[in-house]
Amino acid sequence: MATTTDGGQPTLEEFREEVLAFLDANASLKEEAKEFKWGEGDDDVSLFEEVDRERELQELAEAKAWRAKRYDAGLGWITGPKKYGGRELPAAYDRLYTSLEAKYQVPNQGFFGIGLGMVAPTILAHATEEVKDLYLAKLYRGDIVGCQLFSEPGAGSDLASLQTRAERDGDEWVINGQKVWTSGAHYSDIGEIICRTDPDQPKHKGLTGFIVNMKAPGVEVRPLRQMTGGANFNEVFFTDVRVPDSHRLGDVNQGWTVALTTLMNERASIGAGGAGGMGLASLTRLQEMVRHFGLADDPLVRQELMDVYINFQVAKYNNQRAMDKIKAGQLPGPEMSIAKLSLTQNLWRTANFVARVLGPKIIADTGEWGTYRWGQLLCGVPGMRVAGGTDEVMKNIIGERVLGLPKDPGIDAKTPFRDLLKN
Ligand SMILES: Cc1cc2nc3c(=O)[nH]c(=O)nc-3n(C[C@H](O)[C@H](O)[C@H](O)COP(=O)(O)OP(=O)(O)OC[C@H]3O[C@@H](n4cnc5c(N)ncnc54)[C@H](O)[C@@H]3O)c2cc1C
Repeated sequence: MATTTDGGQPTLEEFREEVLAFLDANASLKEEAKEFKWGEGDDDVSLFEEVDRERELQELAEAKAWRAKRYDAGLGWITGPKKYGGRELPAAYDRLYTSLEAKYQVPNQGFFGIGLGMVAPTILAHATEEVKDLYLAKLYRGDIVGCQLFSEPGAGSDLASLQTRAERDGDEWVINGQKVWTSGAHYSDIGEIICRTDPDQPKHKGLTGFIVNMKAPGVEVRPLRQMTGGANFNEVFFTDVRVPDSHRLGDVNQGWTVALTTLMNERASIGAGGAGGMGLASLTRLQEMVRHFGLADDPLVRQELMDVYINFQVAKYNNQRAMDKIKAGQLPGPEMSIAKLSLTQNLWRTANFVARVLGPKIIADTGEWGTYRWGQLLCGVPGMRVAGGTDEVMKNIIGERVLGLPKDPGIDAKTPFRDLLKN
């Protein structure tokens, strides 16, 4: 790990040199996207694609090896506290690393999105010293992977209705229940779970968070397949799973605060992909598609293409502002819901634009380059519009917290719809 000549914090310029030396020694530069030519190179625009689970494990091993290299070079947790294995440098250094690494060919780091984007920040904010020492460095080194065990068959948008129980038994808690849509549970080592610990309290008040060992006896993970053909998420069943009290997050029955920490980080980390979303569907790629199919002079197609581009640019600048706020040590706020909502709406806009340009070519696999593969994006985006808070829920949050509109009355699930219409 490089330091300055006086042994203190490196300057940004010194840090850039350190990072470039590390990247040059361990990875190769990507083919420049600007040299994109229709019909050549990467045809991959998929989202939640079908992945053979054996191949997935192989990719995970490569991803872990890369994170370990990064971490051992002092670049694995750039902003984290030194006492838990971080480098304790300002956020600008982290951003610099990310922008430099983006130019290099490195193994897919998506496996760590939930563990590092959501679980680790929650551990840092709410866990005991024992749990911080046990897991933080391992998560950032890629030795272990984390997942998020929140949603249940009867509790998604209305998360506080969750029913998975945790009952105290001496120095341990015993968990029983079912979680659903748990992304990456099948390769995760630990999970952040929210359980009901006091059913007699109002629904937001009787909840507690824990870190659970995903390999513990009584944890059963079953895959769920989505319409892209992939199976990124799972159902997870808990039968008498024992968790030490030291693995509790925050105080007993204060799990709602813990969950909110994770959810705000989740929206931040999904939303931060706004610029990445543009990478997935770069303007050059879309422009070349339009030219290739002879639609470059069509005023409506041109107008729609510009609409896609402008919306991605606006999302990118909004994200930049929000991320700067978070990294300056302020709490992520409702801007993150805007970021998450704009990312999914932009991807949806793009997928629909492409579907219109390609017509039937997106449906049938003719082997033609740059056509059928887009179907994966079209089928994958609806999942993005639901994950981490649906578009409708995001709109409620923006309406209430940003615009100050009256609170959403919620869904009265007990009253038949025809009776609701009478009022
Ligand atoms: C790809 C993907 C990955 C996921 N990964 C995870 C994970 O790792 N861990 C995890 O815990 N969960 C995960 N989830 C679950 C996700 O958080 C939930 O699906 C989401 O919160 C919605 O909950 P639900 O599916 O129960 O839908 P519901 O809450 O039942 O919603 C059904 C419909 O009603 C609408 N609706 C609900 N409430 C309101 C309201 N107040 N106002 C207006 N409309 C409303 C919704 O917008 C939606 O259209 C994932 C989901 C997806 C799709």
